Amino acid sequence: MADRELHQDLRGAVRQLCQRFPDSYWRELDQQRAYPETFVRALTEAGYLAALIPEEYGGSGLGITEASIILEEINRSGSNSAACHAQMYIMGTLLRHGSKAQKQGYLPEIASGALRLQAFGVTEPTTGSDTTRLKTMAVRKGDKYIVNGQKVWISRAEHSDLMTLLVRTTPLDQVTKRTEGLSILLVDLRQAVGHGLTIRPIRTLMNHATTELFIDDLEVPVENLIGEEGKGFRYILDGMNAERILIAAECIGDGRWFVERATRYAREREVFGRPIGQNQGIQFPIARAHIHVEGADLMRFRAAALFDRGEQCGAEANMALLLGADASWEAANVALQTYGGFGFAEEYDIERKFRETRLFQIAPISTNLILAYVAEHVLGLPRSY
Ligand SMILES: Cc1cc2nc3c(=O)[nH]c(=O)nc-3n(C[C@H](O)[C@H](O)[C@H](O)COP(=O)(O)OP(=O)(O)OC[C@H]3O[C@@H](n4cnc5c(N)ncnc54)[C@H](O)[C@@H]3O)c2cc1C
Repeated sequence: MADRELHQDLRGAVRQLCQRFPDSYWRELDQQRAYPETFVRALTEAGYLAALIPEEYGGSGLGITEASIILEEINRSGSNSAACHAQMYIMGTLLRHGSKAQKQGYLPEIASGALRLQAFGVTEPTTGSDTTRLKTMAVRKGDKYIVNGQKVWISRAEHSDLMTLLVRTTPLDQVTKRTEGLSILLVDLRQAVGHGLTIRPIRTLMNHATTELFIDDLEVPVENLIGEEGKGFRYILDGMNAERILIAAECIGDGRWFVERATRYAREREVFGRPIGQNQGIQFPIARAHIHVEGADLMRFRAAALFDRGEQCGAEANMALLLGADASWEAANVALQTYGGFGFAEEYDIERKFRETRLFQIAPISTNLILAYVAEHVLGLPRSY
């Protein structure tokens, strides 16, 4: 099947699945700050969360381009990929750097949905964006690592069986480069909770099952180290391009949702005896937001194509995320303005999506850090921090 046809079919199928989860489903969960369990189960059963897992491990072996289309369509339908997107890109760390035994042991179960790998623990409260200074420490004792530390904003930890955890295995003052001495452990949350790991939920602006983790003498078997000890930062970095492209696609999905809703409302709402969309003050901002979403989409597909060909895509993945995050936020503001007072009412869903799409300016990486990356690595300007 030609790519174009495959993509159209994929879009149609994801849209159809999402129709089973209308605005009212998401609105209710938002009010209760509850996890979209049935939605995630439906996506898993349909195989979408295993899109990037190779066929030999029970997945569908698709590329980032296709995975990004799945997440875009979820967000475009008014749903929220944040409930489950991480499985797609965290799994890549295991796939690219895990041992044969780890891959055979976990990937088929992740693909079938028997195991969820939805959580990754990188961010810490005292070090934030300065990842390599993280303080969670794993000390090897015989065939175990003993882990101590704290993490914050670790999403879906309460709804996942497994978590990849970035820890320091060599203290900062004993490495020549700050990026060295970090390692990735695969933590079995089913065993860890209550035995060295405490998860505390954080209530946030939007419905996002995020948490903080307190790690106190948590024992992790050495066989759960992914790849080589001390190389964890490199492994995380190569998963980040995938993450940025996928989340750029979610921004584009959100952007299209806002533009569609705003356009529809502008056509239907009549004030002063004519549709509000007849006023240039209403239609021009919607048109501008649409143009910016479409522009971001080009960079997202360029980054995805490079990624799928195995070529370098750091600059493009970062630019796609910044363009996507800016475009979705612009579209959110335009939609709220178009709806006037009704935009603030929960029942129109604009305010919910508005809160959800705001996150992309901060996570998975703040837009400032993207600008710093492009300034330094693309334009050759001096490092600013
Ligand atoms: C809802 C939510 C879910 C998340 N999920 C996860 C998760 O599952 N796993 C995980 O590991 N992390 C997760 N994160 C963390 C997220 O990746 C971080 O919040 C983000 O990277 C920013 O880090 P910080 O919050 O510590 O901000 P800080 O690093 O404290 O930065 C604060 C502000 O200062 C700016 N800033 C800092 N340094 C510079 C600089 N040098 N130049 C210019 N500006 C600068 C930043 O841009 C930001 O605006 C999540 C965050 C949120 C809010």
